[in-house]
Amino acid sequence: MAAIETLGDLRQSGYRSRPVKQEIRDNLVRKLQTGEALFPGIIGYDETVVPQLVNAVLSRHNFILLGLRGQAKSRILRALADLLDERIPVVPGCEIHDDPLAPLCASCRARIAMEGDALPIGWLRRDQRYVEKLATPDVTIADMVGDIDPIKAAEAGLNLSDELTMHYGLLPRANRGIFAINELPDLAGKIQVGLFNILQEGDVQIKGYPIRLKLDVMLVFTANPEDYTARGKIITPLKDRIGSEIRTHYPSTVEEGIAITTQEAWTKRDGTKLQIPKYVQEVIERIAFSAREDKKIDKRSGVSQRLPISTMENVISNAERRAIRHQEKVVVPRIGDIYAALPAITGKLELEYEGEMKGADYVGRELIRTAIAKTYDNYFKGVDIQQIVQWFDLGGEIQMADTASAVDSLQSLRNIQGLMEKTIKIGVGPKDSPESQVSAAEFVLEGLHAHKRIGRNEERVFSAGEKQVKKPEKSFEAEEHPFRTRRPFN
Ligand SMILES: [Zn+2]
Repeated sequence: MAAIETLGDLRQSGYRSRPVKQEIRDNLVRKLQTGEALFPGIIGYDETVVPQLVNAVLSRHNFILLGLRGQAKSRILRALADLLDERIPVVPGCEIHDDPLAPLCASCRARIAMEGDALPIGWLRRDQRYVEKLATPDVTIADMVGDIDPIKAAEAGLNLSDELTMHYGLLPRANRGIFAINELPDLAGKIQVGLFNILQEGDVQIKGYPIRLKLDVMLVFTANPEDYTARGKIITPLKDRIGSEIRTHYPSTVEEGIAITTQEAWTKRDGTKLQIPKYVQEVIERIAFSAREDKKIDKRSGVSQRLPISTMENVISNAERRAIRHQEKVVVPRIGDIYAALPAITGKLELEYEGEMKGADYVGRELIRTAIAKTYDNYFKGVDIQQIVQWFDLGGEIQMADTASAVDSLQSLRNIQGLMEKTIKIGVGPKDSPESQVSAAEFVLEGLHAHKRIGRNEERVFSAGEKQVKKPEKSFEAEEHPFRTRRPFN
């Protein structure tokens, strides 16, 4: 292809242009035949979303992805560009990337008539053929389809309906490529009708003038399922014209969630030695899982996978900050670092009335605590922790500041009888680094606190649990009791 420089060369090469949906289909078929990965980096959709996506492409459909925020919808659409040919020949300088073998616009047709086989050929890369637009209510027909320029028409002595008078919008500029519109129902009804007309008839009315545009575009959309209903803001004829409707979803297991977060979060930092314990990953992931089930959080908005991703980044940063301060060689996040990552959590929760009343901070802390309790149970269910609880019941107290050095913290933790040997359960022993040992032991304490077996205040001082506080009341009742029973005898 490199040798093709003119229209004559192109004709001689036997090159045959295809409609874009056919091209994407052909390339997908080839990938299926060779067993190549279809959508690398899209995790947890292999048996649900991907087969439906493949069918839509094989069917040469325009399609829509329906799903809540943070379900990799945009990512999937962008990945479609990889199914385009590496490059295609175009008439150079044409705003709508005309095919030199079948030009749409009058100026390209005129050029080819003039220059013939000597017309130079341009090449368009696949990444230049993907156009994305976030729909908002203020998007106009002019933005989307284009506008006619009456002055230009008058100067050239042209009819207004001639496409030469057109100032092209996003859709014509996506000709011979993929046009993705995110949050489709947010487009004004009028614009949806305009899109429909382009799809159906290849023509559109602009300022009362009919403009013909036989575009070749694959249209793909995303929407929140709530908005994509007859009651919602979508116009039925357009909905009817979209070939496939594919539902996305959140990761179905904690393991899948961890895989996505591990892939997406920024963890490799300036060569710092970072060890993220598995239980920290699990707690972070379960915050999102718990939030998706919590009544205090709006189900229609969902809880994005960006929540665990940003949380992980903040957790690592908090651990990094501690390590820098104490010149520690290894960065090992702790559960305390998750509480410090609250700023990465609160903004991603859309609260219901009850949640609003309690405040985002409160809801965030509760979610972390629930996530810790579940993760703790995963490792320590049925393990005897009586000795540790007793140490606190007998008045023991320990502060686990998230800024304290591992060496100092480890020294205090060792005073708690029965604690350090429990960390074996999560694969940490006395030969591991102080950083790892402290993190593991703190996880045990946080687990006991999450289950209300021991208490902890805002200064991160662990102490006896609430039942210990109630004990004096009980003994007070016990003192009263004989007095009451004695009374009838008086
Ligand atoms: Zn053209």
